[in-house]
Amino acid sequence: MFDAILIEKEGDAQSVSIKQTDEAALPQGDVTVEIAFSTLNYKDALAITGAGPVVRGFPMVPGIDFSGTVSDSAHPDFKPGDKVVLNGWGVGEKHWGGLAGKARVNGDWLIHLPDGIDMRQAMAIGTAGYTAMLCVLALERNGVTPKDGEVLVTGAAGGVGSVATALLAARGYHVAAVTGREAEHDYLRGLGAGSIIDRQDLTGKPRPLAREQWAAAIDVAGSTVLANVLAGTRYGGTVAACGLAAGMDLPASVAPFILRGVTLAGVDSVMVPKPRRIEAWNRLASDLDMAKLEEMITEIPMSDVIGTAPKFLEGQVRGRIVVPIA
Ligand code: NDP
Repeated sequence: MFDAILIEKEGDAQSVSIKQTDEAALPQGDVTVEIAFSTLNYKDALAITGAGPVVRGFPMVPGIDFSGTVSDSAHPDFKPGDKVVLNGWGVGEKHWGGLAGKARVNGDWLIHLPDGIDMRQAMAIGTAGYTAMLCVLALERNGVTPKDGEVLVTGAAGGVGSVATALLAARGYHVAAVTGREAEHDYLRGLGAGSIIDRQDLTGKPRPLAREQWAAAIDVAGSTVLANVLAGTRYGGTVAACGLAAGMDLPASVAPFILRGVTLAGVDSVMVPKPRRIEAWNRLASDLDMAKLEEMITEIPMSDVIGTAPKFLEGQVRGRIVVPIA
């Protein structure tokens, strides 16, 4: 028996609680994992609060990521004792997720923990940090280099934004960190931000084009923020878009694309093929300053997860929330 957060639904009413669960109740899969750490991501907050249509079947164990040790495997790539990490693949949405003592999953979804990252660090990075790395890789694929100029990061004090800021700064980029929280300016400078921009500067009604300011950007906000980022991106620049913290709409024009050759690079972390995941995790192991990662961590017990989830939707979470399980 082990503890699991369980989201249940009766009629239109969703309830969430911690329940004692039996291994026999786990979904089908060829690898069983003893979970060491999970995390709270923005998507988990949407699932737990019911604020977004994340959960596709009930009852559901939330948690879109976890790290842990294989306890049982019928998959050729994994054996008991292997340390593994999982991000996405619908886990915590349509397949029971990481906010539980154990998980049973399809072994194809797992990757071996890379050298240089332990199980706690893997979840301090979590899906938010791994998505930040996917965004950096998207900029690199489009030829962005540190000498091109400032790179903007929106939602910089959040999970994706914190890791993106640290990763870009470590590679020598000048990072312009956008935040709505004045209290986090020192934190962001500590992660390596070269300048700080008030979120309000990017929430006005977007014009088709604005002054060319940034060589590239990583955007977690969407909506008006992304429209303003696109309008202010320099000729030939790239914007990696991965989030919707400000909204799912995009009130923009095609002007940045057809007059400045700006590229909008979409970033999804859930269904990315395995080779790109492994590339991202290896780059995290080589690029991310683990002392800076430590500054991003707030650890909470499983018993505090349900109460903490609404803070994400209020934009009150700083950095990454790690949930020790074992
Ligand atoms: P966090 O809540 O940790 O960070 C989001 C940050 O966005 C906040 O901390 C805040 O930063 C900023 N923010 C909040 N509200 C607004 C707003 N109205 N306008 C502009 N900025 C706002 O979430 P994560 O970093 O975990 O995730 C960020 C986004 O990325 C989410 O939308 C999430 O769903 C998405 N995501 C997408 C993935 C994918 O596969 N595409 C994977 C992982 C995440 P500050 O206070 O500094 O301004």
